[in-house]
Amino acid sequence: MSAPKILFVSSEVAPFAKVGGLADVVGVLPKTLVKQGCDARVVMPLYRKIKQKYADQLSFKRWTMLKLGWRSMYSGLFTLEQDGVTFYFIDNEYYFGHDAIYQDYSFDIERFCFFQRAVLEAMGDPMEFEPDILHCNDWQAGMIPVLLDAHYRPHGYHNNVKTVLTIHNLKYQGIHGIERIADLCDLPPQYMSAYGVLKDGVPNFLKAGIVYADAITTVSPTYAQEILTGYYGEGLDGVLRNYSYKLTGILNGINLDEYDPSTDPHIPANFSADDYQDNKAACKKALQEELGLEVNAGAPLLGMITRLVDQKGIDLLTRVLDEMLYDGMQVIVLGTGDPFYEDALRSMSSHRPNQLSINIKFDNGLAHRIYAGCDIFLMPSLFEPCGLSQMIAMRYGTVPIVRETGGLKDTVFPYNQFTGEGNGFSFSNINAHELLFTSKYACDVYRHHKDEWDKLVKAGMNGNYSWDLSAAQYLAVYGNLFGKDWKPNSFE
Ligand code: ADP
Repeated sequence: MSAPKILFVSSEVAPFAKVGGLADVVGVLPKTLVKQGCDARVVMPLYRKIKQKYADQLSFKRWTMLKLGWRSMYSGLFTLEQDGVTFYFIDNEYYFGHDAIYQDYSFDIERFCFFQRAVLEAMGDPMEFEPDILHCNDWQAGMIPVLLDAHYRPHGYHNNVKTVLTIHNLKYQGIHGIERIADLCDLPPQYMSAYGVLKDGVPNFLKAGIVYADAITTVSPTYAQEILTGYYGEGLDGVLRNYSYKLTGILNGINLDEYDPSTDPHIPANFSADDYQDNKAACKKALQEELGLEVNAGAPLLGMITRLVDQKGIDLLTRVLDEMLYDGMQVIVLGTGDPFYEDALRSMSSHRPNQLSINIKFDNGLAHRIYAGCDIFLMPSLFEPCGLSQMIAMRYGTVPIVRETGGLKDTVFPYNQFTGEGNGFSFSNINAHELLFTSKYACDVYRHHKDEWDKLVKAGMNGNYSWDLSAAQYLAVYGNLFGKDWKPNSFE
């Protein structure tokens, strides 16, 4: 069987352009699929910073004029290769010649209409690549399946291409007025209906992707179930329930090279699962000194590294933080975000300065030192599509306390005091006192049951967080669309 050809379409791809987790996934997954024998390629916008930074590596392929409603726009195609993956870039100065990846909401709608139409125009002969699978990510690529259906298939183009939509964040859907989208996408009326692109009377790009893609994935099995309910569904739960037969949840992996406690250059002492005790203790001591906490090897040290937004359960933490400190815990928070949470945390930082350290900044080095130096990692999220921090923490022997939602539920298995099984602690309700009592329970095991704690640390450090597992599952989803049982490295 010949190698499957996959084209990823994304507004963000690490290392070229990153705002969030989407970039990490589309940065690593194609490279992993290539290692598993696929021909995986990626197409993204040529933002100004990429044009500047990679000027000497980019090679020009072709340009054309693209019809976008009444406009006729230049669309250039550039390419470069990195780690065995071919990356294509769509060029247009007016749309992508900016420093920020995202601009204002209304302009972004137009920018990504252009992008999606330009991708489809470039696919095939201009790219010299006709994929078997077109893998679209989030709302910025959500209209591609319907554009393919409306503009290409009726004319005999790309008839064998299957489409996959991955939802990384259901909250952002790409919604705008009918007239504007009808103009920008040139869609015939049969697509502009409640059964097609419209949701609550207006075009919704993510909904369009859900309806027209051949398969849908999201970033954890539990989140795939949760988004079928009203609470987590962001208004699309009904549509998702209708199409749940094509929905699969696949966990993200983490970058094992960047987050490796045995080689990490950001931490004061390296360690591994077989022999972590002394050097992890050295990391804890150094972290307590760095942040002005009492240097106390026995005090449980709890860390939280996060965007400060309501999704992350900051309200639960601030409600019981005083009681946690009263119990003798030390707490470190590193994050930026909503000014409301930044101020709330700042105002608490003077409470017990030798026990509490609030750091309102983005600091990758400090993040690594917190992952390595803490005993416990807090993640009381209200919802969490996948979550990477809990996996990173476990790799550094830092035991997570999480709320049982989304990817947290799929990666953190609560400690069972009767069997000794588990790799962390969890609670089920959005309730500050459940967070407090679970933290107290974890600290009790930490303080008084060292052997049990050691098992928890090792279970986390020995966990498998590699992308290989995820890529194999994506391959199975792709294969399904062709009635094939595709497995890594089973291609000629
Ligand atoms: P999300 O993608 O919802 O923000 P994740 O847990 O999936 O949450 O990933 C967050 C990533 O960003 C982690 O790698 C975490 O270490 C990092 N991070 C978040 N806030 C900061 C910060 N203030 N400084 C350094 N790294 C941060």
